[in-house]
Amino acid sequence: MAETQGTIYTHEEALRLHNEAKAKGYGRIVEDYTDTDNFRLLISEATLDTLKAQCTFFLIRRLETCGGFVGRWINPERIDEGTKKVWGAEVLGVIDCGARAFHSPAHSYLDLDPYNERIREAESNGLEYICFWHLHPFHYGQLALSHGDVAEIRIGLEEDKKDIQLTALVYADNERFELGAYGVHREKVFRYPVKVTP
Ligand SMILES: [Zn+2]
Repeated sequence: MAETQGTIYTHEEALRLHNEAKAKGYGRIVEDYTDTDNFRLLISEATLDTLKAQCTFFLIRRLETCGGFVGRWINPERIDEGTKKVWGAEVLGVIDCGARAFHSPAHSYLDLDPYNERIREAESNGLEYICFWHLHPFHYGQLALSHGDVAEIRIGLEEDKKDIQLTALVYADNERFELGAYGVHREKVFRYPVKVTP
């Protein structure tokens, strides 16, 4: 992993690569899920450690980074919290941003070709694409999507003619490492519980 993340490309180069690859797929995927009250994102301790490892290189440089989650979508009957049936997605794998991704203190762009390739590999192993995630380092101060994050997702909703998109956000500083899951709707932003499983 250190090898693939050792180069930080310029904004221009990364954006060019990103835009060239954008039409090919997953960077823009939108899932439809409108049962916003009962959604959970599940992630194991071990998978969370993988996510932390991918963030560390950039965190210590105070740069954003990003990637994807793969796993399985869970039907309502699969999770039972007492008497309440909920549904969600279980993260089983973390896909990194790719060697030619762009990182700055306030932006990151995926290197989409290798990212998409990794997702295709995961799918051929029976996993499903869940969502994009990105890291806000230190200076953001808290776990919260930025206005820019929400605006960018809403442009995607418009283009893809969808109502809502799942996205995940990591906030990390010296003391904290927090993962949030959000449904960005055309008019509202829903925050979903993240459950860390053993
Ligand atoms: Zn952001």
